[in-house]
Amino acid sequence: MKTLIKDVDIVTLDEKGTVIRGGAIAIDGANLVAVGEAPVEFAPDRTIDGANHVAVPGFFNAHCHASMSLVRGYAEDLPLDRWFNERVWVAESALGPEEVRAGALLAACEMIRSGTVAFNDHYFYMDHVAEVVEASGLRASLAWCQFGLGAGKEVGADLPAALAFAERFHGEAEGRIRAMLGPHSPYVCPPAFLREIAALAKEKGLGLHIHLAESEEQVSRSLATHGMTPTRLLEETGVLDVPTIAAHALYLSDDDVAILARRGATVAHCPITYAKLAMGPGDVPRLLRAGVNVALGTDGPASNNDMDMKEAVRFLPLLQKLARRDAEAIAGDASLRIATQAGARAMGFPSSGVLEAGKAADLVLFNFDKPHLVPRHDLVANLVHAAKGSDVSHVFVAGRLLYENGTILTLDEEKIRAEAERAAFRMVSRDLTVLREYQS
Ligand SMILES: [Zn+2]
Repeated sequence: MKTLIKDVDIVTLDEKGTVIRGGAIAIDGANLVAVGEAPVEFAPDRTIDGANHVAVPGFFNAHCHASMSLVRGYAEDLPLDRWFNERVWVAESALGPEEVRAGALLAACEMIRSGTVAFNDHYFYMDHVAEVVEASGLRASLAWCQFGLGAGKEVGADLPAALAFAERFHGEAEGRIRAMLGPHSPYVCPPAFLREIAALAKEKGLGLHIHLAESEEQVSRSLATHGMTPTRLLEETGVLDVPTIAAHALYLSDDDVAILARRGATVAHCPITYAKLAMGPGDVPRLLRAGVNVALGTDGPASNNDMDMKEAVRFLPLLQKLARRDAEAIAGDASLRIATQAGARAMGFPSSGVLEAGKAADLVLFNFDKPHLVPRHDLVANLVHAAKGSDVSHVFVAGRLLYENGTILTLDEEKIRAEAERAAFRMVSRDLTVLREYQS
């Protein structure tokens, strides 16, 4: 299939930050063949009129728990410890593969509608999430969360089963699915387990997706228990020997930052969760100055409460500017780059996140024919600070059109919304127990 998008404004996010007004984008199969001007011999099967639209690379949600969409609005106004112990880890006692599937389908609809092309998921029953990825047309990096607390403490898969999942699905769906191993965190997983899972990841050539240093209490507890910071513990146990995406990493010493930079780890920053759970803003400019790859995530809908990356794209610079009292923090297109190419690189899709000939055709169009997007002095500023996820009009993943002007072309959204609500109510009406206890 060959697609031509004509008369479109293009925010390429290439090295020079090129912005093209009234250009063309030519897509052949899964790739971009021209950005700016289409070759005269290009004969499209489909032409999209891009007038008053802006094309930009699609978003890579670098940390989420998509199926937690079923507990959206179920864990409100609580600090992290009570959020885990009173709500989230209680509702999850009734979680099964059907709930995971229903929640992932709902999240896929929400992500597609707001311009996300790929998500980095950390949860349970990931074979069911893989099915959703396959059906939706999205890309994803999937990790089956592991606690390492011994027999009977995992959800749906012990470590050998989580590894079997990763080996079975890595590269599936025409390469749209990548798999990782997913130790929960250094505050839940014992060091011996971190060592075991890291060695396995290294042996099998898989990356790791983990939570890290979300609170000052986690750091002081790690110092008291292990004699080192959580970040140092990840280095000592071999976790950072493989490509690692560390979600949050809010409380870091200078030494921790240097470790993350030296080991090429990615920090997945989820600013809306930090504000909502009053966790603190983190220091993104400091990470970037040190050379750490910083990507952007929504986190799960129990702490956000949505999966709209566009909202996080705006909130990231707002929170950093406010926290640092520095209006120049995360300026220009930095937030867009963090939300696209930084996540793409970390999730193993290095050809995505930039609009250039030869790269993957993972792009979205924003409809700028809206009062809040006029005038168009600065397309990047309008995209970062004024556009809404709901302004997305078209979503392409690997050259395939998944969404067009209000209609998801790959999923039955009406049915998915109804089934998700039924599954969510059924889940929290069961006999719930406390699964495990979070100790800050
Ligand atoms: Zn998380």
